[in-house]
Amino acid sequence: MILVAFCLHPAFRYNPIGCPMNPTPSETQTPLPHLQVELDKLKACIHCGMCLPACPTYRATGSEAESPRGRLYLMKKLLEGELQPEAVSPHLEQCLACHGCETVCPSGVQYGKVLLGTREDLAQRDTSFKRRFKRYIFQHVLPNHLLLVIGGALLRFYQRSGLRNLVRKLKLLKPFPQLEYQERLLPDVPARKGLPIGIIFGDLGGEPVSLLTGCVMDIFYNPVHWDTLEVLVANGYRVTVPEQQCCGALAHHAGETDITRELARLNIDDILQSNPKWIVVNSAGCGSTLKEYGHLLAADTRYAQKAEEFASKVVDVMELLAKKPLAPFKNYGMYEKITYHAACHLYHVQKVKNEPVELLAQIPGIELVPLENAEACCGSAGIYNVEQPALSTEILATKMGHIKTVCQKTGATTLATGNPGCHLQLEKGIRETGLPMIVRHPISILAQAYRVPQASPPADKGTS
Ligand code: SF4
Ligand code: SF4
Repeated sequence: MILVAFCLHPAFRYNPIGCPMNPTPSETQTPLPHLQVELDKLKACIHCGMCLPACPTYRATGSEAESPRGRLYLMKKLLEGELQPEAVSPHLEQCLACHGCETVCPSGVQYGKVLLGTREDLAQRDTSFKRRFKRYIFQHVLPNHLLLVIGGALLRFYQRSGLRNLVRKLKLLKPFPQLEYQERLLPDVPARKGLPIGIIFGDLGGEPVSLLTGCVMDIFYNPVHWDTLEVLVANGYRVTVPEQQCCGALAHHAGETDITRELARLNIDDILQSNPKWIVVNSAGCGSTLKEYGHLLAADTRYAQKAEEFASKVVDVMELLAKKPLAPFKNYGMYEKITYHAACHLYHVQKVKNEPVELLAQIPGIELVPLENAEACCGSAGIYNVEQPALSTEILATKMGHIKTVCQKTGATTLATGNPGCHLQLEKGIRETGLPMIVRHPISILAQAYRVPQASPPADKGTS
């Protein structure tokens, strides 16, 4: 019923594939064209194995086929026709696409591009219902912001009306373990206050920046956008929120890159119109895909140049703020120990490594305490935690072990991270382990330091 409603509903803006029950044009068998394009990157591997200890799935399974070197070998054999997609796909699906292997590779293998090119080729050959359904979600649900807002409001009602407590108390989801797991993964949805499109905030003479709000981020962590706006304005930027689409990061991650390209064209047309100096993002996963628009549209003669221009303007908000000295803070009343988890798509892909910690360390009263293996994946990885719950849970348990150690040894009470996927995954880990910590986006901590401290209410002296 839900699928039929999806197919018929006029609110969906574009529908080149139609109902997921119908064949898609992309089913035409092709000789792995996207993997072929990345062949030089594949060949750069010298099989040294230095990436193995950095790979979370290899560490969890001990299997060569679940390591970067093993997966590169499988992709090579696929290209040479010695292995069939059915033999290779499961190992590529178990990859987090965390890019952790790239950071340690002495040969500079761009593993992520090889992997995502191959995923795209394999997705195009896959005619299963599951793949069509996922494709439908990426193409018609995530880019439909109104639908997401309604879904978020319903979810908030479910969580706050007592329904969630009832469902959990009566164990109504127990017969559906996958659904039960997903329900526990969801963060508490905040009251959403949409950012007005096209309004100018801040100093009219400041550097013009466009703020991206995304799809999932705007529902689950909407207050982070207001915090971002506040910090940018405090630092003299002229900020607007442009008309925009979902960036297509989740689709790209899953190999549905033609959908990402279509969304990229719409975003380029909408956002470049106002000629911003910077296109600012506060979600690491979105930022890394937006920075890849040039690569993704390199073969599109109409868009290649515009896509390069667009990608060159994209910055993570922490990366932008680190370019100049921060404006003076207002609030000197914060005393807190904070530890930082580096989102893979910020650290390994965008190479924004030290900026968040260096910016937070400037707030008087904040003490940064290091987290062991801070740059190791938490197991969220797009929709990996939904699709691969067992491995994701194991990888999260390793991460939580390090977080527990730092919390108990230092008394850190806040875990900072700059990606919505990591945020919800780590919140789940903290809820389940019962650690006395909260997860916050670094920009929210900075925003707090730019607010005038509230005057404390006068002490109650009693009536006698
Ligand atoms: S570290 Fe790089 S070159 Fe060495 S096996 Fe891994 S991917 Fe290949
Ligand atoms: S991207 Fe991450 S999970 Fe995949 S092979 Fe590289 S290190 Fe392992």
